[in-house]
Amino acid sequence: MSYDLLIVGAGPVGTTFARYMAEKGFKVGIIEKKTKIGVPLQCAGLLGKQIKEVNLLPDEVIINPFYGAYLHSPSNNILKVAKEKPEAYVIDRVGYDQFLADKAVDAGAELYLKRQVKDLNTKNGQIYLNSGKEDFKAKIIVGADGNNSIVARKLSSSAGEYSLQAAQFLVDFQKDIFDTRFVHLHAYASISPGFIWMIPLSESTARVGLFGDFDYITMGKILNNYLRMNPDFKGYNILKKYQGKIPVYNSNKKNVKNNIILLGDAASQVKPTTGGGLIMGFKCAQIAADIAERALIDDDIKILKDYEALYRKNFKTELKTQLMVQKIFKSLSDDDLDFMFGKLKEEGADDLISEFGEMDNQSPLVKEMFKSGLLFKILPMILARSISILWR
Ligand SMILES: Cc1cc2nc3c(=O)[nH]c(=O)nc-3n(C[C@H](O)[C@H](O)[C@H](O)COP(=O)(O)OP(=O)(O)OC[C@H]3O[C@@H](n4cnc5c(N)ncnc54)[C@H](O)[C@@H]3O)c2cc1C
Repeated sequence: MSYDLLIVGAGPVGTTFARYMAEKGFKVGIIEKKTKIGVPLQCAGLLGKQIKEVNLLPDEVIINPFYGAYLHSPSNNILKVAKEKPEAYVIDRVGYDQFLADKAVDAGAELYLKRQVKDLNTKNGQIYLNSGKEDFKAKIIVGADGNNSIVARKLSSSAGEYSLQAAQFLVDFQKDIFDTRFVHLHAYASISPGFIWMIPLSESTARVGLFGDFDYITMGKILNNYLRMNPDFKGYNILKKYQGKIPVYNSNKKNVKNNIILLGDAASQVKPTTGGGLIMGFKCAQIAADIAERALIDDDIKILKDYEALYRKNFKTELKTQLMVQKIFKSLSDDDLDFMFGKLKEEGADDLISEFGEMDNQSPLVKEMFKSGLLFKILPMILARSISILWR
């Protein structure tokens, strides 16, 4: 079977890209190893409001809109961030993946389930499957096959080497303890630059998870400990456990070679500070679709190189800011974090964060903190504290 484009992986980013290309009139095939799209769940399902600008989001998959967050320091100094309108949504991620795959098929893409890509020939665009029976060929091959991408390994032998782990519990707290308009994020030096999230699905249930550089057993222990330590959570019941990998963004990673491009987690297109990959992946799918269309119309695969340059240009400032924020957080102790949260509260930073803080774009807030002098006030204080502790 011969296609204009073959997409390896029917995750949300691959099927979104497939839909765009099918809508442009190209012959598109999607090859997916799973029997059922989206299963098992490997996501907290938290999406910033930008999702509505970058992809479809049907009401049926929205579990809760969120109007803000409680940010907790290790000793529970709390900053409350509140907005008038929804800032984020928690979604039924399995339902969403299936919805996006249906939309790609409705647009004309052909979806092949239960086919695992084992190898590909980068010269003639041939794809080899586990069954070895079918003959798939395309002008452009798109690796949207997640963190452990086989397509990415064709571009670089070190692909997939750098990733963090994420673990999550679905918890029934057996009593109404949540305001479902707010998520909770807890910072601890021992898991920094990761953090613990608690995302209410109802007044009594939540997704509780963390990401970081630990094995899954250690992460399970950290989460259990966190739940056990809080007297308000007494009697909680873990209903399900999930885990998965989060690629680490790498500015040197190559995402285009000849007629192959990478997208989504396969391209490490994730936000460094939160590990969220959906919004960035969807934005990159749009960029890639415009470039792939030009390459196919002009019959010139060299044009694909523009995808790499354009997406790097689009995300340069935001990623640089997020990497800087991550570096700062990584260097702070629990005492520093407590001190910083306390000082931020004292200086009225909750209002500043409420006004300028955005889940997906952190650079406007950081810029505002510089402009207002808040960062200059707090960082030297933390530095001075750290130095004074050395002399104690
Ligand atoms: C615990 C956890 C919580 C998360 N929470 C959030 C969150 O709240 N918000 C957010 O934005 N992001 C979150 N993420 C990240 C998000 O899930 C990913 O960024 C997103 O799934 C990336 O989509 P994708 O389409 O690139 O890849 P994937 O969703 O990984 O899809 C890849 C697809 O390719 C298929 N595949 C793989 N190899 C082959 C092969 N050889 N042949 C055929 N098919 C193949 C897979 O079966 C899969 O269906 C979280 C991740 C984890 C692990």
